[in-house]
Amino acid sequence: MRLSQYLLPTLKENPAEAQIASHRLMLRAGLIRQEAAGIYAWLPLGLRVLRNVERVVREEMDRAGAVELLMPTLQLAELWRESGRYDAYGPEMLRIRDRHERELLYGPTNEEMVAEIFRACVHSWRNLPMTLYQVQWKFRDEQRPRFGVMRGREFLMKDAYSFDLDEAAARRSYQRMFVAYLRMFARMGLRAIPMRAETGPIGGDLSHEFIVLAQTGESAVYCDKALLQLPVPGEDVDYAGDLSPLIAQWIAPYAATGDVHDAARFEREVPDAQRVLARGIEVGQIFYYGTKYSLPMKAHVTGPDGAERPIHGGCYGVGVSRLLGAIIEASHDEHGIVWPEAVAPYRVGLVNLKVGDARTDAICAMLKDQLAQAGTEVLYDDTDERPGAKFARMDLIGLPWQLIVGPRGLETGTVELKHRASSERRELTAEAVLQALA
Ligand code: ATP
Ligand code: MG
Ligand code: MG
Ligand code: MG
Repeated sequence: MRLSQYLLPTLKENPAEAQIASHRLMLRAGLIRQEAAGIYAWLPLGLRVLRNVERVVREEMDRAGAVELLMPTLQLAELWRESGRYDAYGPEMLRIRDRHERELLYGPTNEEMVAEIFRACVHSWRNLPMTLYQVQWKFRDEQRPRFGVMRGREFLMKDAYSFDLDEAAARRSYQRMFVAYLRMFARMGLRAIPMRAETGPIGGDLSHEFIVLAQTGESAVYCDKALLQLPVPGEDVDYAGDLSPLIAQWIAPYAATGDVHDAARFEREVPDAQRVLARGIEVGQIFYYGTKYSLPMKAHVTGPDGAERPIHGGCYGVGVSRLLGAIIEASHDEHGIVWPEAVAPYRVGLVNLKVGDARTDAICAMLKDQLAQAGTEVLYDDTDERPGAKFARMDLIGLPWQLIVGPRGLETGTVELKHRASSERRELTAEAVLQALA
């Protein structure tokens, strides 16, 4: 992609409205643009990261056996009256009327709609366990939208819903999602710690929030330091097997958010040197809610004995758009963002220091083609700005690798390869660069 024809409105100054690093950097690096309070346009570079985060989320959901569908953003109020939540949900719900005076709402979450789909389509225990998920925009009319995409009003969520015949099976579904969450956040370069959490308006008796520690996080959290080092399950984790021992490792050490924190227990169980008192960002939450929705909404299946019974449900959310903020909070420096490779918008930023020079133009064209052929995504800075501005912009947008081509290097037959995270620079021949990036 050529930068001269790209939409990348970077800012030199810090926007006054941004209080935390990730919000500042997302605006400065031209990833997003606020269109109304808590409502953002995703500019091309930001959209690419969002898509990459989605991809990792989907891969781990699929690996764990979940099945993707897509539900509409607008829902009938009627559906929410069935569960009793239409009135209970409160002012966070955006309520809309259509031209026929029908009451609609912009979905803040989808338990009701997925229950409606399930009860219409699935009737037998033979189809269980089943976990359905979507990646879809949600709207919550937050009282204080802030910190950019961290607390937006319109935001992208991955929400999944499990359906099982009984509580024991539902707990196994919960465990599979627990493990999928450990894996997906780790793949994005984040250490997200599962913490005991309150179940809130969704209800139920088993819930964990996945929390990324960050000074700018909105929740106070308390945990055992051991959780910062536990190995995350690998790709080969057996979702068909018994996950209990693995889960036990993760829930044995103390970890709780402020709402459910038990100070006496914390001090009793966790030695002084092991205590972490911190702030954190909630990037996901999982719930087991039993028959809370299936009873009022009649989401029933017949069991092996032929008798009908309400399914046992769970729901599993991930803040896909919030994750961009969390990743930047965890990975930036004074020059800008430092994207982990797994979610970077492009892997390589190719900088032509003298556009219009036959040799630099030719080498850049060659490198761009060869890298593309090798499947490496390249953002090519072919603008005629001065080198200092180009370097600063590349550092700001945080692509993992910078490839700098200038007339001086070419005299000795080399280009410069810079690793954004370590700032390590190497002078290499074009061939060696292609090998290094292979
Ligand atoms: P919070 O406590 O931050 O308000 P929540 O507990 O209300 O979040 P859930 O209902 O658990 O949110 O939704 C699942 C996930 O969606 C959350 O873990 C979070 O990552 C994300 N999320 C929730 N609200 C927002 C928001 N306003 N903006 C961006 N992401 C959000
Ligand atoms: Mg909330
Ligand atoms: Mg919460
Ligand atoms: Mg939550």
